[in-house]
Amino acid sequence: MPHLYAIAIGSNRPHGRHGRPPQVVEAAIARLDGEFGLFDASPIVLNAAHGGAGRDFANTVALVESDLEPVEMLARLKAIEADFGRRRGRRWGPRVLDLDIALWSGGKFRSRQLTIPHPQLARRSFVLQPLAAIAPDWSLGPLAVRHLTGRLARKRPQG
Ligand code: ADP
Ligand code: MG
Repeated sequence: MPHLYAIAIGSNRPHGRHGRPPQVVEAAIARLDGEFGLFDASPIVLNAAHGGAGRDFANTVALVESDLEPVEMLARLKAIEADFGRRRGRRWGPRVLDLDIALWSGGKFRSRQLTIPHPQLARRSFVLQPLAAIAPDWSLGPLAVRHLTGRLARKRPQG
């Protein structure tokens, strides 16, 4: 059985060829579809810049199927980010493309370079909301994505 991954996609810098952040996210979805089996992708949403990153973000979440193990998947995602011209540097700096592993079907995973579920997941409405649109019942222990989304919405109505 292949693994299922929920990949959080974000962009807040234009790309020379693909265009503005929503088009960059669109191109990233197409790329994930080419490299893995794409199940579903949430509608792209625009969000105010977070963490001092400057420009507004386009965000979505894609569900992909793959036989890759988490560390291999992270390496592939970083290669795609690099291909889209992302330079590593300031953690919260503007980025052409950010691909994070939000969840995978194997439950919890932890290594030096990778933690799944993504450590910030429960706090990031720009990941939870798109995720809730395509996988509301995905469970994280006793709670499901829709519970986390609901809790965050109640805490911070502005997202
Ligand atoms: P962020 O995505 O938090 O804005 P980066 O994309 O620069 O920041 O990621 C920093 C590091 O976080 C990555 O190099 C990666 O090793 C690590 N990391 C830990 N858990 C995850 C995860 N679930 N998905 C993606 N990267 C992760
Ligand atoms: Mg990242």
